[in-house]
Amino acid sequence: MSEFLPFTKPYIDEATIAAVGDVLRSGWITSGPKVQAFEKALSEYFGGRPVRTFNSGTCTMEIALRIAGIGAGDEVITTPISWVATANVIIEVGATPVFVDIDPVTRNIDLDKVEVAITPRTKAIIPVDLSGLPVDRDRLYAIAHKHKLRVVEDAAQALGSKWNGKRIGSFGDFVSFSFQANKNLTTTEGGCLVLNNDEEARLAEKYRLQGVTRTGFDGMDVDVLGGKFNMTDVAAVIGLHQLPQLDTITARRHALAQHYFTTFGADFAQQSGVQLPVKDFTNTNWHMFEIVLPETIARADFMAKMKEQHQIGCGVHYPPIHLFRMYRERGLKEGMFPVAERVGRHIVTLPLFPRMSEAEVERVVAAVRGVLTA
Ligand SMILES: *Cc1c(COP(=O)(O)O)cnc(C)c1O
Repeated sequence: MSEFLPFTKPYIDEATIAAVGDVLRSGWITSGPKVQAFEKALSEYFGGRPVRTFNSGTCTMEIALRIAGIGAGDEVITTPISWVATANVIIEVGATPVFVDIDPVTRNIDLDKVEVAITPRTKAIIPVDLSGLPVDRDRLYAIAHKHKLRVVEDAAQALGSKWNGKRIGSFGDFVSFSFQANKNLTTTEGGCLVLNNDEEARLAEKYRLQGVTRTGFDGMDVDVLGGKFNMTDVAAVIGLHQLPQLDTITARRHALAQHYFTTFGADFAQQSGVQLPVKDFTNTNWHMFEIVLPETIARADFMAKMKEQHQIGCGVHYPPIHLFRMYRERGLKEGMFPVAERVGRHIVTLPLFPRMSEAEVERVVAAVRGVLTA
């Protein structure tokens, strides 16, 4: 029996593990010099824009919405195919998520359908770069500017992705990244928000830590309701070690994705009815390699066979958000976003992580073929 192959695995080297030990021994383990250094490194990576770190890539978006003044009575447009955090944060600040169906090819929000969803109450759009494939930033910002909307880019999966040769995060409005364990760069848990100016960055710091502002040796005041969202130095030092390796990590992911396409072969999609991802080697960071199964195959059966017969773990990213019970209770229902519903029912994530080998890609492809023809 072959060894179990998970769909992802974090990439942590020995130098990083040693650096974590050093932080733990230093006596300063919560937010301190490593957080500051990591924010500085990230800011340089994003072309000098202000960046603040947090303990998740969820609170980053919630805080961006708060900075933009979005709350009760406001609507925020987003995609139904994302991690549920993307829509939950909209509800968390008291606003209403308005879903727009996805494009069947990119599986990202369908920009052709955004404008009809805009009402006088619409204040922002949260696009998601699913599996790291960027939403068309030219069209996105053209729509946002025309309708005077803020944008909170949920780029949780898009660190290292590009648009028009520019890094995602180096331009645009608010850009949110996650450093959760499965992401291309991890700090175990964590995230960062790229902001537009120092004033927004100061506000982000307040929302991050109880709304507190300190002055002099003993001055302290609170003027907004903040929470507890700061990153620790233990986490930050992991990010500091990961960031210089990001280009290597992305290149390795590209090579493995390319090997998937080569191994599946040019006529696989046509023969099997499986939809492969967009073959993009310019913009995407290949955060995931997701296929959409034909309607005739039950995903649960496929996943069970991959696991039990081939010892291969697959993932589901993601079931449609609007069909979760809490969202149904808000009036959303089956049939509203047919493309998202079909993709959400049949999408499967195949293994892809930097330390995976070409032989393992071939093992996955053989297993997929085997399960499909069984
Ligand atoms: C991971 C992820 C998030 C949330 O990030 P956390 O760090 O887990 O809070 C949000 N949106 C998308 C698309 C993600 O993949």
